[in-house]
Amino acid sequence: MSTKFDVIVIGAGPAGYHAAIRAAQLGLNTACIEKWLDDSGEPAYGGTCLNVGCIPSKALLDTSHKFIEARDHFSEIGLTVTGLKVDVPAMIAKKSEVVRNLTRGIAGLLKANGVTTFEGSARVHASRSIEFTAHGGGTQTLNADHIIIATGSVPVEIPPCPITADYIIDSTGALALESVPKRLGVIGAGVIGLELGSVWARLGAEVVVLEALDEFLPMADATIAKEALKQLRKQGLDIRLGTRVTGSEIKKKKVVVAYSDSDGDKSETFDKLIVAVGRKPYTQDLLAADSGVNLDERGFIYVNDLCSTDAPGVYAVGDVVRGPMLAHKGMEEGIMVAERIAGQKTLVNYDCVPSVVYTHPEISWVGKTEQELKAAGESYKVGSFPMVASGRAMASNDTVGMIKVIADDATDRILGVHMLCAHSSELIAEAVIAMEFGSSAEDLGLTMFAHPTLSESLHEAALAVSGHAIHVAGRKRKK
Ligand code: FAD
Ligand code: NAD
Repeated sequence: MSTKFDVIVIGAGPAGYHAAIRAAQLGLNTACIEKWLDDSGEPAYGGTCLNVGCIPSKALLDTSHKFIEARDHFSEIGLTVTGLKVDVPAMIAKKSEVVRNLTRGIAGLLKANGVTTFEGSARVHASRSIEFTAHGGGTQTLNADHIIIATGSVPVEIPPCPITADYIIDSTGALALESVPKRLGVIGAGVIGLELGSVWARLGAEVVVLEALDEFLPMADATIAKEALKQLRKQGLDIRLGTRVTGSEIKKKKVVVAYSDSDGDKSETFDKLIVAVGRKPYTQDLLAADSGVNLDERGFIYVNDLCSTDAPGVYAVGDVVRGPMLAHKGMEEGIMVAERIAGQKTLVNYDCVPSVVYTHPEISWVGKTEQELKAAGESYKVGSFPMVASGRAMASNDTVGMIKVIADDATDRILGVHMLCAHSSELIAEAVIAMEFGSSAEDLGLTMFAHPTLSESLHEAALAVSGHAIHVAGRKRKK
């Protein structure tokens, strides 16, 4: 097998496999090195996203949502269900089947595109030389004109709650529970805490979420975050803000967590505890002292806007570099770097990265929040539309939430779109496209949307920016 390539990609998560496939599509002789082994010790492609992240979490979220619909809401629309029950092992097995099919699919895609794969670990040395150690031993040197590092991230651990095999678990453990815990603690009301907390709460666990910050989801628009918090609490998530976890111990097959809040010291006892306090870049054993690749002060690989590291010809993309830790952000960076290596001028528009929290309703946004614009002293106008006024939402018996469009006061250009509603993970793409093309709120208002759809609520929110929404009673209309 050849040891010299045009491009070697390290890591086959979403950032890495996108980079490798695009580089190969563009005629570059490309290799991809991946070290992931699944539970049965088999090499697996797709990284965190496919194996223990986006896909398995969405499988469990969708299944648990269907359970809640059937248990609590079918009767409201004239459907009767008897004998409904949760079969956790079957749910987990189905999730694992989806993961397996997808990770095998990525291996197939790499092969079909002519990417040479190496299963084992890579270590980067000077002059774009890589020390490759295969699973099971055996080391060889590989060389490339260009290296793309896409080694991703791993969960952050906190000293008061070290991960244990059975009781204190991270997101990976929380995706593989064999039964529904009676009482489940979650540390961190971030994306993972809310998504996985929702899964197990829906299936019957009593869930307590301990969040250090006083503010809930500070990265989301404040109006949307406030309403989301209300809805999630209504669903049974006991979200406690402003808490400081100080310790934990395993006692009589339970986890006792000590924490303090403004009222003083407290403790809670759980059957399981999920620690979901963020993720950190993964560079363990990756960079030899002579690699020339530097880290920033937070441990991310230092890159410029085009994802070039400090070492000539070495790039880094995805979770291992600055920016939101999102699969789609890494994918676009991977594609940008591959296309630039092939001589194209591709850029990533970091102003248009959508974010979604897959709770119910889903919380989705792109662009600036009202609080960011206020802090920056920008002049803006807002149009919002409540889902309760949407015909399609009513027909679907799911009217919680709203859509909010923020536009520049002077130019009407859309600066941000924020959604709390069913299927907003899909709807937000319309806002991303509008913003990518520099749309004004008026442009969106002049666009025809199919009726009846949830998307019409985005249309109405855009019209509301100038006071022209049709289905909101009592609003002052502007000329
Ligand atoms: P990773 O997916 O982490 O892949 C890195 C790969 O590099 C791994 O396969 C690793 O084995 C390999 N590797 C590392 N070091 C080496 C080495 N030295 N040699 C060889 N191989 C190496 N994001 C979303 O956008 N949407 C979601 O819904 C979403 N849900 C998530 C749910 C959970 C529970 C979690 C944990 C994450 C979720 N994320 C989600 C985040 C998403 O998974 C990451 O942003 C994404 O996987 C990052 O992609 P990446 O390619 O940069 O890194
Ligand atoms: P996060 O940064 O979203 O949330 C972590 C939360 O934990 C924060 O609210 C933080 O204030 C809190 N926290 C930190 N230390 C704490 C402590 N000691 N005690 C109590 N609370 C504490 O991180 P996450 O939820 O672990 O997710 C990690 C990454 O994975 C995120 O960056 C996210 O982008 C990505 N992810 C994305 C999705 C999605 O796109 N739907 C889903 C899951 C994960």
